[in-house]
Amino acid sequence: MVRFFIMFFAVCTSFLLSIPVAQAADFGDRVADMAEINGLRVSSSEKKVRVVVDMDKSVDFTVSALSAPGRVVVNIPGAWLSPQVKKNMDIGSRFAGRVRIAQFDKNTVRIVVETGMGKDNYRIFSLSGGASPYRIVMDFGDIGPSSAGAEIKFPSEDAGSTAARGTQESGSSVGTAPAAAAGNVSGGTAAVPAEEQPEPAFSPGISGKKITIDPGHGGSDSGAIGPTGVTEKSVTLRVAMEVQRLLTAAGAQVYMTRTADVEVSPKRASATDDEELQARCDIANQNQSDLFLSIHMDSFTTSDARGTTGYYYAKGTAAGQQLADAVRAGVVARLGTESRGTKSCNFYVVKYTRMPATLVELAFISNAAEEKLMNADDGIHKAAQGIVDGIGNFFGK
Ligand SMILES: [Zn+2]
Repeated sequence: MVRFFIMFFAVCTSFLLSIPVAQAADFGDRVADMAEINGLRVSSSEKKVRVVVDMDKSVDFTVSALSAPGRVVVNIPGAWLSPQVKKNMDIGSRFAGRVRIAQFDKNTVRIVVETGMGKDNYRIFSLSGGASPYRIVMDFGDIGPSSAGAEIKFPSEDAGSTAARGTQESGSSVGTAPAAAAGNVSGGTAAVPAEEQPEPAFSPGISGKKITIDPGHGGSDSGAIGPTGVTEKSVTLRVAMEVQRLLTAAGAQVYMTRTADVEVSPKRASATDDEELQARCDIANQNQSDLFLSIHMDSFTTSDARGTTGYYYAKGTAAGQQLADAVRAGVVARLGTESRGTKSCNFYVVKYTRMPATLVELAFISNAAEEKLMNADDGIHKAAQGIVDGIGNFFGK
């Protein structure tokens, strides 16, 4: 499942500097269909500070950094700040001093975190599902995956709850260099974004290729759920297992992030969102895969949304986009679904894998016809064959 959001980058920091950060003003009632910001949470450990902003629906947001004094500013257009939210919190950490949140103007909520951290030491991304319908997460400090999140948990996100984790593909970083620099991370789990990759060159054909297949969600995270109760995690696993069979038969070395209804992180249900997603990236990265494919089912609030979408990392290689396009086209041709196109994104798993990567939303599980299609063996087989067709076309004959 994916929420629809678009990232905007603030381009004029001098403009921001000229504006008072927290205007005390009454902007009146919430406008219909605006997102309600209904929570601000802060947690800190020796290694990092996490600020979470909760809201009732997905939003667009921009991130900008200011210096002297150092601040990170997040603007959320189309948002209304609930009066119940505490407006000013002292963090008192070496990573961040204070966070303020305010209704900046009639339509915009602004969050300002006082921090001296450089862009390699903070990460801002969004998550959906779980503790709240949608939230913006801001991490400051040691944000390398070797330390990510382990010490910081909010009670509502603890293990054991089936709602513990948001939809996994929604982890989205914007406006920052996302991971620690190479010297900062131990082991094989460094999260290096795709923009540092060279364009790969492949020999033709699937045979001999190393391919990592990632069935979305699993275990305590069911993903989206269809009108008759079919879970996204079950569809993605069934398709992935068939893709594994077809690719193996074609001579590929296939790595699966999971082959059962489980979380991928060794921490299982107690893993944070980024730990769970990084564990999936690690399998592809540590095996030096030639490509990575994450399989998902889409979902939307209205039942008529339908079709297939291919996603690639916005700042990744051209090969990533070509892969996303080929897989999406292959699925559409076999399944007979409507094409929703190939789109750029900031999803965690395509961002932190170091090879051409795509996330495919096969169809909408929230649509009764597509739920039925993807709960039947015929749909499973066609989707898998479409994916393999696309991979074959990507590598060429
Ligand atoms: Zn999903």
